[in-house]
Amino acid sequence: MPGGPAACRGDEEARGSYDLGSYQDIKHQEAAGIVFYDTASALFGVEGLRVTDVDTGPGGAAEVWAVTDLPGAACCPGCGTVSSRVHETVVARPGDVRRAGDPVDLRWVKRRWKCLNGECPRGTFTESLPQVPPRCRVTGRLREQAGAEVAERGITPAEAARHAGISWPVAHDAFAARVSPVLEERPAPVAHLGIDEHRRGRPRWCKDPDTGEYAQLADRWHVCFYDLSGSQGMLGQVEGRTADDAAYWLAGATPAWRDAVQVVAIDMCTIFASAVRRMLPRAKLAVDLFHVVQLAVKTAGDVRRRAIRELYGRRGKSGDPEYGIKHLLERNVETLSPDDFAKIIGTLDASAEGQQIALAWIAKEKLRDVLKLRARVTGSTPCERQVRDRLFSFYDWCARHEDTPELVTLANTIARWEDEIVTAVLTGVTNARSESLNRIAKLEARLAYGFRNPANQRRRVRIACTRGTRRRSRTATSTRERTVTGRQPNPG
Ligand SMILES: [Zn+2]
Repeated sequence: MPGGPAACRGDEEARGSYDLGSYQDIKHQEAAGIVFYDTASALFGVEGLRVTDVDTGPGGAAEVWAVTDLPGAACCPGCGTVSSRVHETVVARPGDVRRAGDPVDLRWVKRRWKCLNGECPRGTFTESLPQVPPRCRVTGRLREQAGAEVAERGITPAEAARHAGISWPVAHDAFAARVSPVLEERPAPVAHLGIDEHRRGRPRWCKDPDTGEYAQLADRWHVCFYDLSGSQGMLGQVEGRTADDAAYWLAGATPAWRDAVQVVAIDMCTIFASAVRRMLPRAKLAVDLFHVVQLAVKTAGDVRRRAIRELYGRRGKSGDPEYGIKHLLERNVETLSPDDFAKIIGTLDASAEGQQIALAWIAKEKLRDVLKLRARVTGSTPCERQVRDRLFSFYDWCARHEDTPELVTLANTIARWEDEIVTAVLTGVTNARSESLNRIAKLEARLAYGFRNPANQRRRVRIACTRGTRRRSRTATSTRERTVTGRQPNPG
């Protein structure tokens, strides 16, 4: 064992004079009047440990020698008797945090005491510290650091464990212990609620040995609930994607929380609509307008593919004028340059099939005209009459061209969701935040190379989707102001 406290002190004369062989040696040094320099202990910062020496280990790692310096360390945990008889001295090597990025080899010289109470069932006991309880081989601060890195930095438990030099279960348990209070908190009331779904991995199937048919073993879908008006991020999630699954989560909330929800944004999905109507009868439903435009663009694409097949008797390929403008048709008409616009008109005017594509393209733009009434675009809240008038204009266009079956289907779908579209335009509530948090949820699954355990997945995803919120609440005292500028009016 290397030189004792003198090494910390830097006293060359004293170096080598005292040998830290055991606790007894330290007691001898103390008796001889050697004063321990506690600066090193204060810097090391583990309560109850006094650093006696620092050396360089074989691998270049810092080797920190320390002894117990805690009142009551000699107190028997069984009967409370203070012992004065050392049974033996052992060197424990609990894992500890790195020092300036380098690993530290902690050598804790600790005593095993003999209990002097003859009636005590415990014959002997060893010293323990608040940071290193009995039977623990890792300091509390290393455990906390690993848990915090997974929760706040977004790395995986495997990576945190590798960096800390601990096992995956220890790192994962540290993470779970850290975040469980966060997950148990009930969400604060939200005015605008978002519902979306995502899938973890592929579904699992099993073959029925009698019938030979496949049956689903595990549903890999999760329905997630998001705070769209506040900053709580993901509020919760539930396995499965039936109306009952979504309603189950909503039923778990308090009646006051359910009453506070004013608008619920969903994709054009009847399952969520049914769950919301059942559990939140007072809330208005809004469909996400991105999905409305996406449906119209898809319809225009369907018509273009059918028209090309009718015109050429084959699928479109590069060189066909109608195929060449397919990306221009997907763009918003107001962002097209005059040349692009002329190219579309010239191509679609050339044939009867092109005219059919033009009908679907105009229908898409008529539907977009409805969405342009949003306060975000115009700067003022529209009235319901205006929105329904523009929708009527879209229906009228589709009805006048009912020989195009795709337009009839589109108009029927839009009519089914008309009230929800009107609510979305009037309130301006979109599911954009749900989609962005959904992306984080999927990213988390990729970082983990997929999850095997649904409970672990829910915990990791939920923490990932509320990380920004927790960060903001910690820096809420910041006085930095951010200027918010609105969209500038088009000079043209
Ligand atoms: Zn005892």
